[in-house]
Amino acid sequence: MKKIALTLFGICSISAMAQTQLIAHRGYWNTPNPTAKNSVEALKNTQKIKVYGSEFDVHQTKDGVLVINHDNDINGVVIADTNFGDLKNQKLSNGEAIPTLKDYLITGSKDQNLKLIVEIKPTQSKELDEKIAQSTLALVKQLKLENHVEYISFSLNTCKALKAYQPSVKVQYLMGDLSPAQVKEIGLDGIDYYYKIFQKNPEWIAQAKSLGLITNAWTVNDIKVYQELEKLGIDFITTDTPVDFIKK
Ligand code: MG
Repeated sequence: MKKIALTLFGICSISAMAQTQLIAHRGYWNTPNPTAKNSVEALKNTQKIKVYGSEFDVHQTKDGVLVINHDNDINGVVIADTNFGDLKNQKLSNGEAIPTLKDYLITGSKDQNLKLIVEIKPTQSKELDEKIAQSTLALVKQLKLENHVEYISFSLNTCKALKAYQPSVKVQYLMGDLSPAQVKEIGLDGIDYYYKIFQKNPEWIAQAKSLGLITNAWTVNDIKVYQELEKLGIDFITTDTPVDFIKK
């Protein structure tokens, strides 16, 4: 009896693991009355739905403050060229001031079941990429959120630096120009690629899995694409429409 129960548990575990999970792209902003992407409000909205994670983008100000924003600039003010004192009053479309990474992580820490997917944006230099990776890890450590965050980046320098400074962190590469074997060789944890890369190279999902890499596709808002990738066994889908894909 015990053996049967254990076997059943094993089957259930495997199917639970195999299920494609969702990550809200820049938070769950696409509500009936949409709010600003990458806003604290979008993060709070994600905490109210049942998904794996909430993604957001990190830049650094000229004087070294980490802030959340997708583009290099907010309202035309270039983040990397501006001290935080001159940036902090810039508003998102929902009226919030530009969030700092610290404030964002503190809000995120209130829901331990929702992973915080930190995208560190590339900079003009390898040194700066490494410095931002280091400061982000330090802040996460200070807030005791090491088990709560995962990292993604288009910058291979950033990905490598994160793993070098703290090998236990999960880091996925975004660019889509490296095969699963190449990403494994570099020592990263997964591939988080534009969905068309997986459509062009569908075998990469099985290859990645056999290498023990995580697979994730962005930004999937079409249910047909979601189903196609789910059938291929993708681990995660990053989407602007998380509620549409939540299994009832
Ligand atoms: Mg992003």
